[in-house]
Amino acid sequence: MMRRDGRRPPAVFALLLMAAVAGCYRPDERAGPRIAPQLVAVENGRLPAVAGMKLHVFNTGMNRVSSLLVGSPAPWRPAPAFVIERPGRELVVFDCGVGTEIARESEGALNPLTRLLFKTRSLPGKDLPAQMREAGLPPERVSHVILSHQHFDHVGSAEGFASASFIAGPQARESSRSRINGFEPAHTDWISDAAWFEVDFSKGEPYATFDRTIDLFGDRSVVLIKGGGHTPDGLGALLALANGPVLLAADLAVHFDWLRGDDVQRIVSDGDRAAEVRNRIREFMRLVPAAVVMPGHDLSQVPAGRDDIVRHHPELFLPQAWPIDSE
Ligand SMILES: [Zn+2]
Repeated sequence: MMRRDGRRPPAVFALLLMAAVAGCYRPDERAGPRIAPQLVAVENGRLPAVAGMKLHVFNTGMNRVSSLLVGSPAPWRPAPAFVIERPGRELVVFDCGVGTEIARESEGALNPLTRLLFKTRSLPGKDLPAQMREAGLPPERVSHVILSHQHFDHVGSAEGFASASFIAGPQARESSRSRINGFEPAHTDWISDAAWFEVDFSKGEPYATFDRTIDLFGDRSVVLIKGGGHTPDGLGALLALANGPVLLAADLAVHFDWLRGDDVQRIVSDGDRAAEVRNRIREFMRLVPAAVVMPGHDLSQVPAGRDDIVRHHPELFLPQAWPIDSE
């Protein structure tokens, strides 16, 4: 099969298609390495907190990944987006959620091959820029948009942040151009090279339980964490919120069910790396039990009682708020 541009579909999709044809799910159990029980480069074992720093949590839609890729059950899961407020600074977005085309066409907006494996839903007015405006957080005030990776449910409304700089993972642009275009709606092609920055984790330092990190603003407020299991360009972020640390795990840890077991499922590009990063997150949770972890597709444990974490429309965190099938 050839794409419109004459190239063959990427091997990963061919493999997924074969898996779909084979019709049965086999777990991919990986124990991964043991992680040293220590918080590296953290003074007195206490992670920093920046006075006045806040996190805004939004949901932009719901996705359901085929049980061919994740086994059963394969529930509908949220597609969140986050806005970070640093005192005296412009806003920072971490992931954009799904785009407006999903509200209009659901998975019909995706390539027919992708559509076999993903269902996705949204509603008009529930994209991130629209919800931000409603919340009094103008998208024009966003100076940086961090993209955890280039999948459609994380970059979906990037167009809404025309004046921002974009921070992406290693070789993210190359991977989105060569691998995903044609299979997902393109949302980042318009961004100029001058506004596009890719993190070089080879210059990264160990921090807490993580092997490679980059201190984005030099003040420990937003520390980027190298992923590389789900997609090669993956990254997460450790935030020094006023009342305690929050780990935005993105698809380094897709949801809490995924963190509980050893099955890395059929949603990883590097299963061994995915297992290692998962173990690093587990060790972090064990050593810093007060930290709040927000996986890429799980808003079930976003605390309600913190004034540095704002839950916008928490009713939208639940599947029943969205136009989903009951099957
Ligand atoms: Zn995702």
